[in-house]
Amino acid sequence: MNVEAHKEQLGFQAEVAQLLKLMIHSLYSNKEIFLRELVSNASDACDKLRFEALSDDALFEGDSELKIRVAFDKEARTVTISDNGIGMSRQEVIDNVGTIAKSGTREFFSALTGDQAKDAHLIGQFGVGFYSAFIVADKVSLTTRRAGLTAEHGVRWESAGEGDFSVETVEKAARGTEIVLHLREGEDEFLGDWRLRSIIRKYSDHITLPILMKAEGKDEEETVNQANALWTRPKSEISAEQYDEFYKHVAHDFEPPMLHVHSRVEGKQEYTQLLYIPSRAPFDLWDRERRHGIKLYVRRVFIMDDADQLMPSYLRFVRGVIDSADLPLNVSREILQASREIDTIRAGSVKKILGALDDLAANDAEKYAGFWKEFGVVLKEGVGEDHANRERIAKLLRFASTQADSEEQSVSLADYVGRMKEGQDKIYYITAESFATAKNSPHLEVFRKKGVEVLLLSDRVDEWMVSNLPEFEGKTLQSVAKGELDLGALEDEAEKQAQEKESDEYKELVGQIKAALGERVKEVRVTLRLTDSAACIVADAGDLSANLERMLKAAGQKAPGAKPILEINPRHPLVQKLKAEAGKERFGDWSSILFDQAQLADGAQLEDPVGFVHRLNSLMLALSQ
Ligand code: ADP
Ligand code: MG
Repeated sequence: MNVEAHKEQLGFQAEVAQLLKLMIHSLYSNKEIFLRELVSNASDACDKLRFEALSDDALFEGDSELKIRVAFDKEARTVTISDNGIGMSRQEVIDNVGTIAKSGTREFFSALTGDQAKDAHLIGQFGVGFYSAFIVADKVSLTTRRAGLTAEHGVRWESAGEGDFSVETVEKAARGTEIVLHLREGEDEFLGDWRLRSIIRKYSDHITLPILMKAEGKDEEETVNQANALWTRPKSEISAEQYDEFYKHVAHDFEPPMLHVHSRVEGKQEYTQLLYIPSRAPFDLWDRERRHGIKLYVRRVFIMDDADQLMPSYLRFVRGVIDSADLPLNVSREILQASREIDTIRAGSVKKILGALDDLAANDAEKYAGFWKEFGVVLKEGVGEDHANRERIAKLLRFASTQADSEEQSVSLADYVGRMKEGQDKIYYITAESFATAKNSPHLEVFRKKGVEVLLLSDRVDEWMVSNLPEFEGKTLQSVAKGELDLGALEDEAEKQAQEKESDEYKELVGQIKAALGERVKEVRVTLRLTDSAACIVADAGDLSANLERMLKAAGQKAPGAKPILEINPRHPLVQKLKAEAGKERFGDWSSILFDQAQLADGAQLEDPVGFVHRLNSLMLALSQ
């Protein structure tokens, strides 16, 4: 087969076509950003080449001066962006600019509302920069050759952005990528030297490579951007906009960040960090394979993307750059894993980020609430992951609680401690599968009655988090669904005595219920924690909570299978009625129903739901006769 003639017409992945339409409509009011996105990609391509060339110098093909060129042609009505970066092979072209290989694509499309203003935000979050070319162009022609391949392995990709694209093999002498935009009718404003230069300065000034344009009316080229590393400049010389634009490039985000931390560390080790917290969680926050984390530089030379050793997993949403003065230029991922320098840098960066969050929480509660909504669940992982910083992270945690009875997580442990009742010495919480189950749990009844606040925990990570957080500022965290009800000094003597008396009175009933339920329960006992409900399920103090057991099972893991404890409310009419039924035929059924109800209220699935329905039905029939 003649490779030259090998041209194929391919359809975009269905989503890409839809995305293109949305992109053109929703970003039209800010159409000049197409240039920022293409320059950002060119810069990434040069970074990739530099990284690959660390282990294979031949990839430079004798030309290691990486640069980006921007040109325009008034006659042909084209704008051209080219780079001498890594380039792409035919397959890479098809994969990278014909499909969206991102995880979360499906979620993205299901999140679209059809309201263009809202969807514009989503587009930004999803970050598909290349396609922004179609905002201003009705035909895009990309010609590329991957570094290391020979000239006849060039590839041309062309598309009008309307559902399909063509790829053909062409000659390309120079390594890298050239993108020609054939401007749409009416987009002639981009065919001007001044306009293009000002866009580059506005959005791409921070790009560390030179961006070259021909000087007006001359043949020589000149550098349009500052082309020095933004993070090496003094803070006072960097504007808020410049910080933001740099963020958009490193994070592949369309929206400005929530905050940044920029600092230079000197002493035994020298490094500069410019770190950002995004305004919104990306779609792939939960994808273990996700990229775009921290970029590592050594003395201003780009070394690698997504250096995950530089940030612990619970801060994986942080973006930015770290530039070390001490690491060797040929540092590899393997070296990083075992490097003491990296450990120090990581510890320093974590401190900075936690410090920035402390400040935010103290000075701008509303913004902090926004942060917590986006990233709180991830930060919670830190309690178990980063023991050295556990206290600090604990202060940053926010919870839903019975105080507000709202799903929003806004109560800090310090708030809770500040509101503790006279004599209260524990921080009470409940874990459940959902907020509603937590909020309506019978375990809360006595606490509501006494006006004692309980934290309502319903994120998956919460069980793990609380198991790693035994106390906060000397106060024990206590699950209200585990062990005997222990109100400490909140309990008054009279009540205690009343309970003991009731326990005695119900001793016989308790034994009878236990006999009826047999192996299904570990124990049956009388409780004072209930006011409205007849019964509830409790885990033994040393056992896993029922919620955690269920989570483990759902995740296909072995759960120890601890049996629950059934607690009954002696003041409930149903329980009193049951006492009168002792010894009668239907006592066993009634006991079962009581137990199953308590299980359901706890968020459990019944082992024998059909049996439950039968028993309930016969009870209803008996009542109606
Ligand atoms: P992102 O930059 O977030 O990955 P884009 O839509 O901007 O998303 O680009 C998609 C992909 O296309 C890039 O990840 C890269 O693999 C490829 N690509 C785009 N432009 C270039 C270029 N100039 N050189 C090499 N590869 C490129
Ligand atoms: Mg991009």
